[in-house]
Amino acid sequence: MLAAVYVPGNERLVLDRHYPIRELHDNEVLLKVAAAGVCHSDVALLSGVGLDTRKYIFGHEACGTPIKLGTKVDAHAVQKGKLYSVLALDNCTLGLSGGPAIFNSFGIGKDGAYAEYLIVPEDSLVPVPNGVPPEVAAIASDAGITAYHAVQDAAQVKPGDKVLIFGVGGLGHLAVQYAKHLGATVYACDFKPAARKLALELGATEAFDLIELNKKTTAGFTVDTTIDFVANNQTFNLAMASLRGNDVHFPSRPKCVMVGASAENLVFNTFDTLASGVQILGSTYGDRSVLATVLDLFAKGSIRAHVHSEPLENVNKVIDELRAFEIIGRKVVIPHSKA
Ligand SMILES: [Zn+2]
Repeated sequence: MLAAVYVPGNERLVLDRHYPIRELHDNEVLLKVAAAGVCHSDVALLSGVGLDTRKYIFGHEACGTPIKLGTKVDAHAVQKGKLYSVLALDNCTLGLSGGPAIFNSFGIGKDGAYAEYLIVPEDSLVPVPNGVPPEVAAIASDAGITAYHAVQDAAQVKPGDKVLIFGVGGLGHLAVQYAKHLGATVYACDFKPAARKLALELGATEAFDLIELNKKTTAGFTVDTTIDFVANNQTFNLAMASLRGNDVHFPSRPKCVMVGASAENLVFNTFDTLASGVQILGSTYGDRSVLATVLDLFAKGSIRAHVHSEPLENVNKVIDELRAFEIIGRKVVIPHSKA
């Protein structure tokens, strides 16, 4: 089958047209991949930051249709031909050399979805409701749940909150809508004019570039919560400046939620953090119930995914576009686009 393979030390994926499909274990399902989202984590992993020496197929955000079931898979629970979104982590995933479990999931350590076919455990499949197209069902499984978990579970956004989102990309454009859906007043910050325009179209009250936000915070602009999908020193310092004003309402507990995976070390002053009451929280991924919720929101039309498709053969071009911050929303690759 056609597959885009991570080869350690190579900053581009290698397209292999004859990658073998292995035998299924009893609890596994062979999926025909319908769509696979291209994630910024791929850019980070290709830079070698994970020190991974394994060779495997990339792609950890996917949906597909079962075409073959392992001998112990319940054929009533998993139906051939139906569309399923795939959770990358299941309860029994073991970490690599004692590291986080996510480094031993499909597309990150194990063969993933930049391929015509994908093998996953039965319990990683979540059925996709009618009306949700494959490109949206794919991004629901990573961008969709990671953004939702950050807004709903980590930030615990509630009606009336003022929420500032940094980075209106694949995850951030969904977070703007989730926060709005939960009744918040939403602000966005992104250095790209097109991303700011998208944030306003999706319900943000105002969208700033970094200089504009800096001026606003100096003038006293304050929010209850920041959710940072960039997480570099610039956005972190602006987030803290936007939250610090809450100390006038002591003991309010403004939240600084970090979702972006930046290579930078962030510096904060403990006295400043304690005095302002800011809680600095990390948020990653989401579970099966979050994926079901997110798919339902897409099915109802409550949340709109800004997504574009490309053939799998173009995956390196899409990753280059991500590196250059050229993508608005999310891009997915389609393995069977010429079939
Ligand atoms: Zn990802």
